[in-house]
Amino acid sequence: MKHEYLLPFSGLEDGNHSFEFTIGQDFMELFPDTDAFFAPRVRVELEMVKSDRLMDMKFRFEGTAMSLCDRCLQEVEFPVSTTEKVVAKISAEATEVQEEDEFWVVPEKDSSLDLAPYFYEVLVLSRPMQLFCPENEKGESACDPRMLAFYQPRQQEDVAPEGDSRWAALAGLRDKMEE
Ligand SMILES: [Zn+2]
Repeated sequence: MKHEYLLPFSGLEDGNHSFEFTIGQDFMELFPDTDAFFAPRVRVELEMVKSDRLMDMKFRFEGTAMSLCDRCLQEVEFPVSTTEKVVAKISAEATEVQEEDEFWVVPEKDSSLDLAPYFYEVLVLSRPMQLFCPENEKGESACDPRMLAFYQPRQQEDVAPEGDSRWAALAGLRDKMEE
């Protein structure tokens, strides 16, 4: 596995280090099945203090990603802006990366740490639990009214036991538009 979200820690001297990562479209190739977000544009600054076998890390995430409106399925941007602290211990005994909240154990033999799964997690958690189209200055929702009209009665019928009923509604609407 070789991509640009690796943190090479072997050979890193004790002291302060800074790294920078850009989470862009190529990031999505690592997570082709996700529907939590798409089109990420996030800068990650990592400040690290390495001492002996500890890496004291502070990540700053700043940018945006897109997801679908929970009401009408239009594309909506959401901010990714957070600071996270992680302390990673480099261990000669560990065989795989273990993450316990902000405390990680990293196998010494790995020589570099794959940050992609962590970045993915941060982006997923940055998506608001309920994401809607923005409102204009009059407080009117920018949600697609055709979609709302189409999909709300469907939801009440409770007719889609399999899969996500919102996607079924979207597919149905597309069929209609193509007719
Ligand atoms: Zn909407």
